[in-house]
Amino acid sequence: MPHAIALYSGGLDSSLAILTLLRLGVKVTAVHFITSFGCAVSSNDLVRQAQRYGFELLTEDVSEEFLGLVKRPLFGYGKNMNPCIDCKIMMLQRAGEVMRQRGADCVATGEVVGQRPMSQQRHIFNLMEKKTDLKGYILRPLSALLLPPTIVEQRGDIDRKRLYGFSGRSRKPQLALAEELGLLEYPAPAGGCLLTEPNYSGRLRELLGHDPNPSLRDIEMLRIGRHFRLPGGSKLIIGRNEQDNSRLRDFISEDTIVLETLEVKGPLCVITNRIVSEEDLLRSAHLCARYSDGRDKTSIPVAVRQGDHLRIVKANPFEGVGLQCLMIKN
Ligand code: SF4
Repeated sequence: MPHAIALYSGGLDSSLAILTLLRLGVKVTAVHFITSFGCAVSSNDLVRQAQRYGFELLTEDVSEEFLGLVKRPLFGYGKNMNPCIDCKIMMLQRAGEVMRQRGADCVATGEVVGQRPMSQQRHIFNLMEKKTDLKGYILRPLSALLLPPTIVEQRGDIDRKRLYGFSGRSRKPQLALAEELGLLEYPAPAGGCLLTEPNYSGRLRELLGHDPNPSLRDIEMLRIGRHFRLPGGSKLIIGRNEQDNSRLRDFISEDTIVLETLEVKGPLCVITNRIVSEEDLLRSAHLCARYSDGRDKTSIPVAVRQGDHLRIVKANPFEGVGLQCLMIKN
């Protein structure tokens, strides 16, 4: 029985590629890479899909290495902060290692010729083969008929005639195939990678502009709350709701500066720097008051904590054009 190592995001295309191979009697080991930029699929859902359809699932956390690619991609960014070519090369390389370790026959992906302007073009597929040293081993079941036969097809171990020739941006053929294969659940097309989202990319670009080497913690916090860059360079994050406040709490450590209004209900606010100028601290307190239930008052006490150190600041809810200037826009 031929054995494929499949890149698996949990989305429509990678799921269809796997189901197509399973239908042809191929043993599939799916590899799912965890980065700080994915969001659409929970690991429980992936495990459920693997059990339901009968394939092996491996997960690997590549957050650190992936962050390196995002900071300095060799092949640049797509429309937003998505370094798709570098990303695909890295994932194919990792899957290629698994293929060699397991003695498998090919690496499979859900890529479709012409679907994405940056990474899903024939000449980019050639580049990926070259960079990964996987020439003849990368099988793309959804577009195989438009591409040269891979080694496993040439050997006749996988029946090329039963693969597909999808191309372009339309999702209609994939949706029809999903119905035929009984694939009922998958995230929305193109969902899942925060780097393709303009809003998130704007925040990331701003962060890299201030700190070319942000930590994974800084990156994780980009998806929570409202963000402000203060005149002294500090970054303030303000929870928009209870869910944000609770997620922000997970990032609080001994030396994190945390602000909360007293006497009126207000958001949880976190300054991501350890050391902050007095001016930035006071502005943060004013902004904290601005987003509280006491925004109509002239003065609100705000608790500023860092570890055991507590200070109460009288804050005036911050209003006007200054607010817009400080908010990190996308
Ligand atoms: S969209 Fe995101 S996960 Fe997909 S190839 Fe591009 S960078 Fe990688």
